[in-house]
Amino acid sequence: MTEASERYLADQVAVVTGASSGLGQACAVALARRGASVAVNYHHDADGAAQTVRRCEEAGARAFAFQADVSDEDGVKALFAETVDTYATVDILVANAGLQKDARFTDLTLKDWNTVIGVNLTGAFLCMQEAVRQFRRQGMRHSRALGKIIAMSSVHDVIPWAGHVNYAASKGGLSLLVKSAAQELAEEKIRVNAIAPGAIATAINKSVWSDPAQMEALKKLMPYGRIGQPEDIGEAAAWMASDMADYMVGHTMVVDGGMELYPEFRDNG
Ligand code: NAD
Repeated sequence: MTEASERYLADQVAVVTGASSGLGQACAVALARRGASVAVNYHHDADGAAQTVRRCEEAGARAFAFQADVSDEDGVKALFAETVDTYATVDILVANAGLQKDARFTDLTLKDWNTVIGVNLTGAFLCMQEAVRQFRRQGMRHSRALGKIIAMSSVHDVIPWAGHVNYAASKGGLSLLVKSAAQELAEEKIRVNAIAPGAIATAINKSVWSDPAQMEALKKLMPYGRIGQPEDIGEAAAWMASDMADYMVGHTMVVDGGMELYPEFRDNG
């Protein structure tokens, strides 16, 4: 069995977007613990990004922080250029940056629709394109794959979500973006996959898990009986980026404590 401390990603470089907090920070640290050097992308939270860098360095890895808006093509190009300048290659992309702008259907503004699609879907697309271009430039390195891409989807890529149609549409789109890109790129030995987290305690849903009544209601949707922790997703990402997952291509891995198991039907005997 592979120990969590084993540095099976040594000599590999990872770009993690939205890594100043939550799942992005957990992915960055999990990759760093396996020896990867990490480009820590952030949007506005420089202190959070500095904390991620510190945690990666404490794990014995190299890391640097870089501000960029993933929905901006020039910003994404600059992020990858800086990573290659600093560490020479990119072997792993975790396209994690995402946000919610919630509203009832007819109250949802075009601006908030576009923002969420722009970051969650277009942002992942732009980062994936840059990653693939870089994988091709550098050729085969320390892995069985030319490059590995992991997109952060959500259980709401399949579970409809009233009051969050922009978010659900972005994640549903992301899943087919991943599968279609995987189908196109697999022959080049580029592995494109996604993780679909359930409810994980981060800033994005703090209003829910910090309120005991809402937390009780949420727990009913989680057969495993607890809310997820960012490390649950970081560990999945580290494994998915490794050669242990070399035959995983175009897959969305659900990590959700059973949320996608229709728990509402448990007592419907
Ligand atoms: P979070 O708010 O802590 O992290 C989101 C990160 O994305 C933040 O660091 C934010 O600054 C960054 N970001 C936002 N807009 C950006 C932009 N334009 N450019 C670059 N970065 C930007 O929340 P989180 O829960 O860690 O979310 C991370 C990802 O996980 C998101 O894609 C989210 O949709 C997904 N997800 C989260 C959960 C959950 O329960 N927490 C469940 C399913 C999926």
